[in-house]
Amino acid sequence: MKDVAIIGLGCAGYTAAIYSARYKLDTVIIGDVEGGMGMSAAEVGNWPGEIEIKGPDLMQKYKDHALSFDNVELVSGRVEKVEEGFKLTMQNGDVIEAKTVVFATGSNKRHLGIPGEEEFSGKGVTYCATCDAFFYRDKTVAVLGGGDSAVEGAAIAAQVAKKVYLVHRRDEFRAEPFWIDKVNEKDNIEFVLNTNAVEVLGEQKVTGLKIDTPHNGSDTLEVDGVFIEVGSIPAVDLPQQLGCELDDRGHLRVDEGMRTSVNGAFAAGDVSSGSNHFAQFATAAGEGSIAANSVFSYIQGGN
Ligand code: NAP
Repeated sequence: MKDVAIIGLGCAGYTAAIYSARYKLDTVIIGDVEGGMGMSAAEVGNWPGEIEIKGPDLMQKYKDHALSFDNVELVSGRVEKVEEGFKLTMQNGDVIEAKTVVFATGSNKRHLGIPGEEEFSGKGVTYCATCDAFFYRDKTVAVLGGGDSAVEGAAIAAQVAKKVYLVHRRDEFRAEPFWIDKVNEKDNIEFVLNTNAVEVLGEQKVTGLKIDTPHNGSDTLEVDGVFIEVGSIPAVDLPQQLGCELDDRGHLRVDEGMRTSVNGAFAAGDVSSGSNHFAQFATAAGEGSIAANSVFSYIQGGN
């Protein structure tokens, strides 16, 4: 029986593991997606202490730090089932038991649900502009969305692609001004605003994107790739098996100690309702540390 099972190999999970280790808790950290969403950050410029670092390099540092403690065990694989007690059943049938659980399960990219999207997934449609942009050297791509992921993605794609259409349903971006400046500086990015994508076109691969508002007189953008960056959905399947409550935005409801509505179950990072829903490395780390602190109190007999 472990003291704490942390599910998720992102910033929140690794930070919870580092703190748990220093509280001398017998800790297991489990996951099947190494590094989580942090892996898709091409350049991180807001992690204190690093003026600029690549997401995968930062994730590797978190992992090395967490695994530098003898009382942290990493289990690679997918947790299929969580039962009170807590009993975690892995996809391969292994069972892990722990006194407490921290859900640091992050989120999954939102799909648009338009015709052609699933059909061309992996054949020109992708959900990580910064990861896949480099396959589109000298090509034309459309990036959909108006948040940090889309605007950063467009800026990164424009470094290699011949042309980038940034397609957004409103005429204002919600991304950080830092990234908005970056896209404004690029002369190969064209804004397609107040516009929704309605269909991905193609044969073997993507050839175009149909839009609901004509752009330069056409309802089709001729593109080789469509990068869908329209936000993400919290990964709450496992905590819902325990009956953990959600908030009205579908995140795991937590109190200021990152406690969920189920005794002994905690949450941290993008999956949680904490930090005003501000999904950042810094907030995920903060929540991971608070969750570990609450686990420590819980195990000592507090709450
Ligand atoms: P987000 O902030 O939720 O933005 C999603 C974007 O997609 C919004 O512009 C939204 O439009 C649009 N959208 C949503 N549903 C749509 C639909 N059905 N059709 C068309 N457009 C749709 O998501 P995100 O950009 O992935 O960012 C998620 C979190 O990660 C944020 O907290 C962000 O700050 C963080 N992040 C940070 C960085 C960084 O460098 N600091 C980088 C990446 C992500 P509206 O604007 O009209 O709602």
